[in-house]
Amino acid sequence: MSALKNLKFNNSYSRLPDEFFDSVAPQPLHGAHLASLNQDMVRLLELDDIDFANPKHLATFSGHTLLPTMQPIAQCYAGHQFGQFVPRLGDGRAIMLGELETEHNGKWDIQIKGSGPTLYSRGSDGRAVLRSSIREYLCGEAMHNLGIPSSRALCLIASDEEVYREQIEPGAMLLRVSPSHVRFGTFEYFYHNNQFEHIKTLADYVIDANYPVLKNADNPYIALLAEVIQRTARMIAGWQAVGFSHGVMNTDNMSILGLTIDYGPYGFLDAYEPGFVCNHSDHQGRYAFDKQPNIGLFNVTCLAQALLPLFNDDGTKAANIARTELEKYQHAFVDAFSKQMRGKLGFSMQREEDQPITQQLLDLMSEDKVDYTILFRQLSQFSTIEPQYNQPLRDQFIQRDAFDEWAKQYTARLKHEPTSDAKRATAMNKVNPKYILRNYMAEAAIRKAEDDKDYSEIDRLLELLRKPFDEQPENNHYADLPPDWAQRISVSCSS
Ligand code: AMP
Ligand code: MG
Repeated sequence: MSALKNLKFNNSYSRLPDEFFDSVAPQPLHGAHLASLNQDMVRLLELDDIDFANPKHLATFSGHTLLPTMQPIAQCYAGHQFGQFVPRLGDGRAIMLGELETEHNGKWDIQIKGSGPTLYSRGSDGRAVLRSSIREYLCGEAMHNLGIPSSRALCLIASDEEVYREQIEPGAMLLRVSPSHVRFGTFEYFYHNNQFEHIKTLADYVIDANYPVLKNADNPYIALLAEVIQRTARMIAGWQAVGFSHGVMNTDNMSILGLTIDYGPYGFLDAYEPGFVCNHSDHQGRYAFDKQPNIGLFNVTCLAQALLPLFNDDGTKAANIARTELEKYQHAFVDAFSKQMRGKLGFSMQREEDQPITQQLLDLMSEDKVDYTILFRQLSQFSTIEPQYNQPLRDQFIQRDAFDEWAKQYTARLKHEPTSDAKRATAMNKVNPKYILRNYMAEAAIRKAEDDKDYSEIDRLLELLRKPFDEQPENNHYADLPPDWAQRISVSCSS
């Protein structure tokens, strides 16, 4: 047990006023066992000395026997869900065990998701099913390794516990890890309760813990909004560039650090479809792929409103300040997104024709239902000298003449590039992933885990997705088009 005893927890969030959280002990799962351990997180959290295969050690991370220095809490927050304000949500099925202080890698919230009911469960069971836990486990790593900021997870714990959803499913726990789990909705909670002193306390806490440089700004709270706007815009630009659809962009699922959090019915694009809706419960398509940038603006606007009392005592002046900051969102998004798209097309410098060339390609891909990831990876091989080598790329399209016309313009544009085709290919392969977490891949891992308690596919995918930009010849089949049965997978909020 000594390795466990050496862990240092400093639970700053639980020293905040009572309204911020509720102290609650996690409820262990019957038959809890380790399904997968994320070695990258073990290293980052400096937990190399912990033997997770040892049931005593695992018991500490699965909410069974807590360390005396852990202070389990559920955080309170509100949020706009599908556009409607819900005054109190909170961690209904997640409990933060404590904030782990590492020697070299900073401080991390260690949270169990699926840990049983809390004050904020609103009549639900506080559990998470194995299916959704596997999906969140894999996607956090997939996103992180794609270079998109994300919460991550230390391990996945499976169990023999039955959880009731549309059908009975096995329950599970995810050890979720993030430098902070504060959400836009945490600020909204206090704003809508008129607890303005708590907005300040929370903002000071976030700045102190996660944005210390902002303390020197003229008004650190305006600087905080400005920084969150930038990070949110950049994060969503990353989603759009890689073809990721979050599915539930409620303000309670928006991280104050600009991290992708709360993976539910997310999906990566297969064929390029701008209006793609990954969440089958989202009947209005509010969170469709192409609406994400605008929803990001709606969400940062909700945050700005909640911060207004900290900007200026005069309401009109405060609103003007917020408006000035919010106007920068659009620019930040376009800037980040166009930069990423230029990279995907191999444009190392900026030219006027870049945007129309990119848009024409996307339009053609959308009309011909071309696979987003495969196409961009293939585009790396585009030859400006020997067009016959572009035949496999051309074969992706139904409208060949339209493609030829586009290829002519693309060739002309690439002639302005200072590098050779080969060098450009290398650069493009660093931004156009070969491997993404397609729904069917997660589904195959889920089926094995559910049917046979066989968790090997989870580990295989974890390893694959650690290096999404690398050629991995033994894994080429994961870079193919999804199989036909993938179209029948349905993901919704129920998890
Ligand atoms: P989500 O859509 O997963 O972000 O969850 C929205 C809200 O519902 C959050 O406050 C969750 O904590 C809560 N919630 C979701 N599922 C459950 C559950 N099974 N038991 C209790 N609370 C839940
Ligand atoms: Mg959530």
